[in-house]
Amino acid sequence: MLVLLSLCVCVLLLGGDAQDRAALWRGNDRSGRCQYTFTVPSPAEASCPQTGGGPEVEGLKARLSLLEVLVARLSGGDTGGPQGAEAAARPGLQEALNRATGERNLLRGEKERLEQELEGLQRRVQEMRRETEILRARPCPPQTPMLPPALPDSGLTRPAGGCGELVSIGEPVTHRKADNIAGKYGVWMQDPEAVSPYGPEMVWRIDTIGSDVRQLFGYDDMEQLAKGFPSKVLMLPELVESTGATLYRGSLYYQRRRSRSLIRYDLASESTAARRDLPHAGFHGQFPYSWGGYTDIDLSVDERGLWAVYSTNKAKGAIVISQLDPFSLDVKKSWETNIRKNSVANTFMICGRLYAVASYTAPDTVVNYVYDTATSQGKSIAVPFRNKYRYNSMIDYNLAQRKLLAWDNFHMVSYDLRLGRQQPN
Ligand code: CA
Repeated sequence: MLVLLSLCVCVLLLGGDAQDRAALWRGNDRSGRCQYTFTVPSPAEASCPQTGGGPEVEGLKARLSLLEVLVARLSGGDTGGPQGAEAAARPGLQEALNRATGERNLLRGEKERLEQELEGLQRRVQEMRRETEILRARPCPPQTPMLPPALPDSGLTRPAGGCGELVSIGEPVTHRKADNIAGKYGVWMQDPEAVSPYGPEMVWRIDTIGSDVRQLFGYDDMEQLAKGFPSKVLMLPELVESTGATLYRGSLYYQRRRSRSLIRYDLASESTAARRDLPHAGFHGQFPYSWGGYTDIDLSVDERGLWAVYSTNKAKGAIVISQLDPFSLDVKKSWETNIRKNSVANTFMICGRLYAVASYTAPDTVVNYVYDTATSQGKSIAVPFRNKYRYNSMIDYNLAQRKLLAWDNFHMVSYDLRLGRQQPN
């Protein structure tokens, strides 16, 4: 075995050009054991180093000795026989192993500590960014220091009581995590004016990863969604593009894949009820939100009806809002904003106002823009918004529950919200 090992080492060391001129003999030695002889002609005899001399040879000898010890140890383990070399090498090897293990554990601990520190610093940077955004958007306070602090509900009403501007958004509540990769992005929704055979509690969901998105899952209520038990699975006649679908009066509205066609799919008859191109709308990645994902056409429903948010070449990428006829899908009226669609993470409509979310990944971001279709005016705002799972692919207003629904990195989440009093126009 030692001879074979030595032979291997020699072959490795010599390698290269010498290989095609090398010769190998095999024969018995005096004790009858098989002996291998391996010879290689040197390219320059005069340069051959002295036998046993030179640091390289000494180094090779040392490595060979180490290998012999290891081989002796291994063969000793096989036969169970006593091995002097093994006995001599074991304490040294064990000590080296212990030292290496100790160092590895120390390094692991240090790595974990540094990772935690990095995470803390990243969190702090996000917080500071958010504070800066809020401070930038806030006008200077008037010089009236003697006013008493406002009560929490002072001047505000719950959404049920009014349709004023958005004041605050609560922390996200997680309802369900998607089971597989198809659910990294998606859309979930409720029909604010449900139609038989489905009740108002029914929750619908589409997982939108992949190129063959056509399954619409229905759950009897939020509890069944949380448990992951759909009571209905519908196969849509046309493929779905992205996360912009919505529900209204017994129909699913969605953008057909790779087109600007809008589809109205009737849930009761399980068939297409209307189809119409959204005039000049960009599609399939022409004017998406900042996270991409072919989010070109975003449909939603609020107190004022059915909306499409998109952009056109004429608008040069700025957000266009169109109010649609829910029966025919015709455009009733359009507004062109001055905010670029690809500069915001998502938008949602409440009470005829469009709201834009600044970031889809920052855990603490803001709703940074509002456009009121009643006045055709837009302005900057700063309402804090939390991306708990740091990859928000869909945000829309749920008129049925008067909450925001979102799809954040496999998670279906909802947000309570608070609106101010309706200002007289
Ligand atoms: Ca949206």
